[in-house]
Amino acid sequence: GVEATDGGTDPGVELDGVSVTFGGVTALRDVSIAVANGEFFTLVGPSGCGKTTTLRTIAGFETPAAGQVRIGGQRVDDVPPEERDVGIVFQNYALFPHMSVRENVAYGLHFRDPPGDATTEERVDELLSLVDMAGMGERDPSALSGGQAQRIALARALAPGPELLLLDEPLSALDARLRERLRVTVRDIQQDLGITTVYVTHDQAEALAISDRVAVVNDGRIEQVDTPERLYREPASRFVAEFVGDNNLFDGEVSATQPPRALVDDHEIRLPESADVSTGESVAVCVRPEAISLDSGETTLTATVENSEFLGDAYRLHCTWNGRSLLVKTDARQPPDDSIKVGFDAADVHLLSGE
Ligand code: ATP
Repeated sequence: GVEATDGGTDPGVELDGVSVTFGGVTALRDVSIAVANGEFFTLVGPSGCGKTTTLRTIAGFETPAAGQVRIGGQRVDDVPPEERDVGIVFQNYALFPHMSVRENVAYGLHFRDPPGDATTEERVDELLSLVDMAGMGERDPSALSGGQAQRIALARALAPGPELLLLDEPLSALDARLRERLRVTVRDIQQDLGITTVYVTHDQAEALAISDRVAVVNDGRIEQVDTPERLYREPASRFVAEFVGDNNLFDGEVSATQPPRALVDDHEIRLPESADVSTGESVAVCVRPEAISLDSGETTLTATVENSEFLGDAYRLHCTWNGRSLLVKTDARQPPDDSIKVGFDAADVHLLSGE
């Protein structure tokens, strides 16, 4: 794998203060990201937040109203899309229906020579093997499953050996099981080739699963750029805390500092020893559902189970506590019902500053 860096010394793609507008609509506001060479970098966020626009700006299909785009350290403002050394895969396969699979992959070499001294035939065979579709070259695209079609779209994008791979929701039209399998394939291929990749998805679980780093996008702005682990464990904003994974967020006020505690309604919650807070300060207390156990913990609450979902390896309990909703994840063999005592430790509390 590639070290996740904060930009690194070896630049892959950089956006520097990029804004993009469509008429009166501002799609991107002052976006700065630095994707390191060889990194698998994912843009995740809700529908309409600007993910696709970011990708299209990197590809050269949109022109920033402000800011700079650099690929491999070079400004690309004046480089048209077809001259950017970029391979792209979109959500909707977009294979040419009147061409065989082989011809579709070879189309990726229409404007560029194969890398090295491979012939087109050799390069196509190499790519078909890479995406595990060797021997399928003579097929018609209409004879492919959705997953196979996306593999071919990936092979076509990679055929000229681009320095940068852009993937826009390439798996979102596939069913859940296939999506999970293919995301591993995409990650494997990316790592084998060591190709700098910017991946767009609205699926936060997918983003966490396959990325070196993830940028959470909200309403045209970057909320946080971090490794999947840090995004999950140390969300920097309320939006990230709620968008990435399940979370419980309670607004409260710091009531003491030795040891640190907060009052949520009139209930005292122990905060981590390391919390840098002062008495009277407003805070948002975040506790992941899986950090809450039935019965014990440094902070305990009495909650009412309203509903339970069986997840296979656990139950997700939809509870209420003090008129607030509370999610609890438990690996108990049976879901409890009615009134339960739940607890969590101070070390499992993450703090955000209050409103
Ligand atoms: P989705 O996940 O739904 O594809 P997204 O995060 O990729 O969403 P974008 O497609 O980048 O979001 O759109 C960002 C904003 O810019 C939206 O408000 C969208 O309506 C607007 N927008 C995007 N393209 C255009 C366009 N060509 N003309 C006008 N507005 C546009």
